[in-house]
Amino acid sequence: MDVRQRSTNKPTAPMKIRVVVDDEKEPRASDALPLPLYLTNAVFFTIFFSVVYFLLTRWREKIRNSTPLRIVDLSEIVALVALVASFIYLLGFFGIDFVQSIFRPSAVDVWAAEYDKNHADDVILKEEARKDPCGVDCAPPPPQVVETLVSEEDEEIIKSVVAGKTPSYSLETTLGDCKRAASIRREAVQRMTGKSLVGLALEGFDYQAILGQCCEMPVGYVQIPVGIAGPLLLDGREYSVPMATTEGCLVASTNRGCKAIHLSGGANSVLLKDGMTRAPVVRFATAQRAAKLKFFLESPQNFETLSMVFNRSSRFARLQTIKCAIAGKNLYIRFCCSTGDAMGMNMISKGVQNVLDFLQKDFQDMDVIGISGNFCSDKKPAAVNWIEGRGKSVVCEAIISGDVVRKVLKTNVEALAELNMLKNLAGSAVAGALGGFNAQASNIVSAIYIATGQDPAQNVESSHCITMMEAVNDGKDLHVSVTMPSIEVGTVGGGTQLASQAACLNLLGVKGANREEAGSNARLLATIVAGSVLAGELSLMSALAAGHLVRSHMKYNRSTKDLVSKVSS
Ligand code: ADP
Repeated sequence: MDVRQRSTNKPTAPMKIRVVVDDEKEPRASDALPLPLYLTNAVFFTIFFSVVYFLLTRWREKIRNSTPLRIVDLSEIVALVALVASFIYLLGFFGIDFVQSIFRPSAVDVWAAEYDKNHADDVILKEEARKDPCGVDCAPPPPQVVETLVSEEDEEIIKSVVAGKTPSYSLETTLGDCKRAASIRREAVQRMTGKSLVGLALEGFDYQAILGQCCEMPVGYVQIPVGIAGPLLLDGREYSVPMATTEGCLVASTNRGCKAIHLSGGANSVLLKDGMTRAPVVRFATAQRAAKLKFFLESPQNFETLSMVFNRSSRFARLQTIKCAIAGKNLYIRFCCSTGDAMGMNMISKGVQNVLDFLQKDFQDMDVIGISGNFCSDKKPAAVNWIEGRGKSVVCEAIISGDVVRKVLKTNVEALAELNMLKNLAGSAVAGALGGFNAQASNIVSAIYIATGQDPAQNVESSHCITMMEAVNDGKDLHVSVTMPSIEVGTVGGGTQLASQAACLNLLGVKGANREEAGSNARLLATIVAGSVLAGELSLMSALAAGHLVRSHMKYNRSTKDLVSKVSS
């Protein structure tokens, strides 16, 4: 079927598909009874057959004694009432389903049944018995009736996608309506997989905004709650930090850290470096030729020419350095450049391609194997990022007064410094950690990344962090710092332009491109990430230290009321 041609037809009458989302069984009147169902049934069965037996026996006696049947005594009246009551119960319990099944097809999994639009307007979709998010069984929710209007025209397209005649990926282009494309694809996916997508939100999202940019073949969107930690007092300014997470206690914990920082006069940050990297791999016939290119690229005389070629890719891309590593006759060329307010992967890739095209003229025997040769290194744990940095390298520090450590963090300076040394430094060394010298940096990084439209996969290197804690001012106060060499963030491009994510960036005052100084929004965001990590580290480390103290408190019969029960790392 030609979808484009059909879509120009006049819209036809919508067809109603009624989806009843029900529990394992429909509610019955008998559910209101105080006894379990099987006992109630047994009681009514017993009553029914006992009174039938009793009445038949009395009836036989009356016939034998020639007593008129209409003369009934009290026991017979009671028996008759019991007969009628138990009959009504049994009919209600077993009879109605039977009668309904004659007039209506039985409740089946709609996706298992072949769809017949002439006869299957009413379908019942069973949903798996639900559990309360807290893990305990909860009262069954009332059945929802979700009515989806599917026009005959859309129905045809759905069938065509299910039959494989219309490629699912082409729906946006052929229909020219992204929301409709998502809705049709969603229905087709449900029918093809036999699985329900009820619960995955479809409405209330701008599908046009993600086209060719953020997500292909959408069928809906996942909702993640956003909490606010703060205010985070950083470099003299306050920030309310949005965190998208489903991990309980995370926002509360970061919030507590922010409070401790605020009461101690705030945190300060320094941006040490700002440069995105990309490293293609090229191959030569000999190691000698590979080395020749390495010397050429690393020679200061050639830098100006190379940067001119590189910088043509964008008005924001500015080449900073080129570092090469050789493995036999293969050369890995690590380009590093500033990228303005963009995280910069697209931008730098274009610049690298320009340089490779340029080099090919003088190094015709150079075989470009891949624009990314993993010496970059993107979304993989690698020492090169930990040592050299990637994106923004930030150090953030604060001095937390001993009073605040005691009153807000419920621990003491000595315990924190000791725990940091044994856990974040020695413990991580024992574990052979690569950039993981911290308690929970990735928790905070991921939550802010998701809220602000960053690439959450870059959490891998962006969470590299060494947390230091030291007693200062004669042991009274705590100096705490986080050093994070690879925070990869942007405020333009990617998911940052989507409505929800843009709102979170706006809350931080870093939405979009900075008109006065390109790159300063992204740099500020990186320092906010580091500041929030500082808060998270303080809070979790204190909870752990307090846990340690509480154990000794219990030993000495002291209060346990300040124990922070949930620790995420
Ligand atoms: P990334 O390189 O992070 O993947 P994109 O290439 O998708 O990002 O987005 C960057 C785009 O935004 C480029 O086209 C760039 O020209 C444009 N842009 C506009 N203002 C800025 C700015 N201040 N900093 C960086 N890029 C900007």
